[in-house]
Amino acid sequence: MITTFGTETSADSLYHKLKEMLADVVPDFELRLKAEQAAEINALKREKNAVILGHNYMEPALFYSIPDFVGDSLDLARKAAATDKDIIIFCGVRFMAETAKLLNPSKMVLLPSEKAGCSLAASITAEDVRELRRQFPGVPVVTYVNTYADVKAESDICCTSSNAVAVVNSLNADTVIFLPDEFLAGNVAKETGRHIIFPTKDPRHASDSLDYQMIGWPGRCEVHDKFTVEDIINIRKQFPDVVILAHPECSPEVVAASDYSASTNAMIRYVEQTKAPRYLLLTECSMGENIAAANPDKEMLRLCSIRCPHMNQITLEDTLASLQKLQYQIEIPEDIRVRAARAVERMIAIG
Ligand code: SF4
Repeated sequence: MITTFGTETSADSLYHKLKEMLADVVPDFELRLKAEQAAEINALKREKNAVILGHNYMEPALFYSIPDFVGDSLDLARKAAATDKDIIIFCGVRFMAETAKLLNPSKMVLLPSEKAGCSLAASITAEDVRELRRQFPGVPVVTYVNTYADVKAESDICCTSSNAVAVVNSLNADTVIFLPDEFLAGNVAKETGRHIIFPTKDPRHASDSLDYQMIGWPGRCEVHDKFTVEDIINIRKQFPDVVILAHPECSPEVVAASDYSASTNAMIRYVEQTKAPRYLLLTECSMGENIAAANPDKEMLRLCSIRCPHMNQITLEDTLASLQKLQYQIEIPEDIRVRAARAVERMIAIG
């Protein structure tokens, strides 16, 4: 389990704690500056009765210094739903902050940067989902949580990378529409033994084949899209005993060539609970740094160079400004919120 210092309000004490964990990763002068900013955030957070939720992809100094809770999107959605604080600051991207607002609408939910989007969430619109429903009437729609609220509102149920297979199986349906991640859909189809198709918007290619059980969408995470089987072959040549963990947003070929594939939280548990000579994570690179800092006795290969440009927008400076100015507030029209919340709550009930 990862421990953070989100209640620490002494800059000096915070600096020493961060230094112990991150001396190899963050230069000393930067750690000092960040410890001062983080201490100010933690004091203000207490004064304003706020909670900070930090996604596993936050940069290491932020990740360890200010969140009260860290985790993957499912974990943080649960924490958002359960909090009794007045303000929720989401150190993650917009769709995550929206999910917090869906589940706890009476709270003020703040996202520190307006630029923290997501290539997957941007790949599909609510109208796209309505069009798929017209093409495939009666087929249930499963939507990955990496989507905006209006898309969730058009869905029957949401899923995350940790529960996607369980959600699909729970529907007991011959066919499901699974949106919008092409690779996650491919990985779920493989695991559930389903044949998947990717219809285009052209109705002529819509449903003339009956030989499918899953309908996908060509959305991709711009980070996980970059890992290739060739990368894995090259790494194994250099380090034959490496254990490779791939996020299910990587292509099915990359997942098949890896040793283990699961959500970010499950990857953290895997590294904690196993004893391999060395590990390599095929996911956002800040998370590799965060796991390495929490497991100093394990050797993690630092070959990652792929930082999510959206997660990267969230900084300590912007989080401080967010608390001071109460920006940027997440607002969702009530009719959309109610329908989207229903899809997320159905998922949470499954686990
Ligand atoms: S890592 Fe991929 S899925 Fe996650 S926010 Fe960035 S672009 Fe979106």
